Amino acid sequence: MPVERTEQRGAEELHKYYEVYETIGSGGFAKVKLGRHILSGEKVAIKIMNKKDLGVDLPRVKLEIEAMKNLSHQHVCRLYQVIETSTQIFMVLEYCPGGELFDYIIAKDRLSEKETRVFFRQIVSAMAYVHSQGYAHRDLKPENLLIDEDHNLKLIDFGLCAKPKGGLGYELMTSCGSPAYAAPELIQGKAYIGSEADVWSMGVLLFALLCGYLPFDDDNCMILYRKITRGKYDNPQWLSPGSVLLLNQMMQVDPKRRLSVRQLLDHPWAIKDYNSPVEWRSRQPLGHIDEDCITEMAVNMKRSRASATAMVKEWRYDQTTATYLLLLSKKQRGKPVRLRPEPTACEDSCSPLHQGPQTRKALHFSEDEDAVIVGSLDFGSEFIDDCPWVPARRHTPKGVRGQPDGAANHKNVRPTSPPVEKRCAYSPTPERGRVPAQHRQERRDRDQERVSENKENVASTAREKDVEIFALPPPRTPVSSKKSARPNKNVLTTPNRNTPSKGTKTEALTPKGGGSASKENNKRKAEAFKELANVEILAFSPERRSRSLDMAFTDDSGKKKRGGKVFGSLERGLDKMITMLTPSKRRALRDGPRKIKAQYNVTLTSQTNPDQILNQILSILPEKNVDFTQKGYTLKCQTWGDFGKVTMAFELEVCMLQRPEVVGIRRQRLKGDAWVYKHLVEEILASSSI
Ligand code: ADP
Repeated sequence: MPVERTEQRGAEELHKYYEVYETIGSGGFAKVKLGRHILSGEKVAIKIMNKKDLGVDLPRVKLEIEAMKNLSHQHVCRLYQVIETSTQIFMVLEYCPGGELFDYIIAKDRLSEKETRVFFRQIVSAMAYVHSQGYAHRDLKPENLLIDEDHNLKLIDFGLCAKPKGGLGYELMTSCGSPAYAAPELIQGKAYIGSEADVWSMGVLLFALLCGYLPFDDDNCMILYRKITRGKYDNPQWLSPGSVLLLNQMMQVDPKRRLSVRQLLDHPWAIKDYNSPVEWRSRQPLGHIDEDCITEMAVNMKRSRASATAMVKEWRYDQTTATYLLLLSKKQRGKPVRLRPEPTACEDSCSPLHQGPQTRKALHFSEDEDAVIVGSLDFGSEFIDDCPWVPARRHTPKGVRGQPDGAANHKNVRPTSPPVEKRCAYSPTPERGRVPAQHRQERRDRDQERVSENKENVASTAREKDVEIFALPPPRTPVSSKKSARPNKNVLTTPNRNTPSKGTKTEALTPKGGGSASKENNKRKAEAFKELANVEILAFSPERRSRSLDMAFTDDSGKKKRGGKVFGSLERGLDKMITMLTPSKRRALRDGPRKIKAQYNVTLTSQTNPDQILNQILSILPEKNVDFTQKGYTLKCQTWGDFGKVTMAFELEVCMLQRPEVVGIRRQRLKGDAWVYKHLVEEILASSSI
């Protein structure tokens, strides 16, 4: 079949069954988007990979897919469907709206022993199961544990897993994973047992949960390796004797002296307050057929139950598998086991499959579509609740929620108050607080060094996301009070950013880099820009300012631009903008920032004027060499590497908190090294006098 047609069919297949929304994350080689399975109304995460970009990593993705097809556990992210075209692979996954565990840890500084225990039991449960299926994960870290809507953990990223042919007791050779979490035997290049290496990583993870920082860390990879090989780390004074002991038992340099996962299941520390061992067996065993789900599918497909069962039992990870698993998930969460019925009179108004051009528009993803304001997809209550054709809710039992391991009763573990002005317990060393460009390069090099051929599986690329730690800066004088700012007529925009074109070597613009000349240059540009920005803040009424903010990203032709261009004259720009603003853009700013509840990825300010905060951030981004585009109060930020590659992508959104009624800044990393991101956002917030 011609390539183009296969391509089209793959994309059609995705769009036929799913609505595709904004990007919610991106990794080493994937972009992950929020989606909705139209038939069940369930949210999903869609991992999109371009085969060409994957290159030699393609087999790793195949390995991840195969592993995920073989794993079904309450603490492992579920794979629902795989769509492959000649150029792309789409993996439809269980959606975890709570973000990465690491974000959660850093937002809370560190977790209490009690809360750590809840999470740790879930990690042990997941790992015991994964090992029981013959897999070693080999990339355990808090970035690879996502939090679901019930505040339970789900393990992701099986791209580096190994399933030794002779069983998990067979030795592995490939050095992979993130250096900070890697076991000593692994970084020494020795043959190692996958499950033993995983226990070491779990020890590092446990330390990170309890302390909010890593036990072994250094910008210099040789020093880091030395620390890991020696296995010496400091126990902070707040750790209980029990925690100190457990950490010590898990981070034993000699793998034979390390605890096994089996020993962790009923370790005294793990069972404290539970009085029961960790429950590790799958509550959703592979191959299990649920009669209620089959009945609903049979009705929907107008088939016999036997025929529906036969189709499901093929486990092809196609639309049938996805529909069945999503129905099952609904049932387990106490939702009605219902699919969207055959088209009825109401379809135009509430059936996603039959929505008109508007929905169709949302189904095509492009960079532009990425600009959908995060949170705009608020399904609120389940869509079927809104549809008149849906029978009254049929209540199914709540399943096994609320039990240990699993069960984490989210009311018990969710933060009760937002992290106001929290400073991470981990105070970075001077070197770390401001990672020098050279060190960052070393870190990147170190990651590269860690990459070696994955002999057990396939060629591998180590991907380190590392941790993110945010500390709020001390309050500083708001920019608006800086009356000394010289008037300038220019308009707020990204100043003369040297956005490199793809594949062209240009001046480094990321915080990582550039020579001193380029740094000087950037500094000068930033200084100049800051003045402009300050004036902008002072000069404008909110309405005028709104226009100017929008204008910053609109070129003479009225098209949105990825970088800005400095208008020669503020007035000229404003005049243009009055006619250029599309109704939706006007609305975006006129409606003001989104009102959201405090979440752990929202930094609270003590201020109440969102425009002022927005302008402060806008004025500082160029200084930090951050390129940005704006949609209302959301800034999509990027930094560029030396070769025109985006090194980092993240969002900052100015929003209004409800309680307390103050301005907050929601942040979300979409791509790039977590440490660098963490420092950069910290610097932006600090410099923005927030
Ligand atoms: P890669 O394999 O390229 O590293 P990942 O699988 O790690 O990509 O996904 C990248 C990011 O996307 C994750 O760190 C996470 O923030 C987000 N993500 C991945 N899977 C999901 C999911 N199931 N639900 C919500 N977010 C997800």
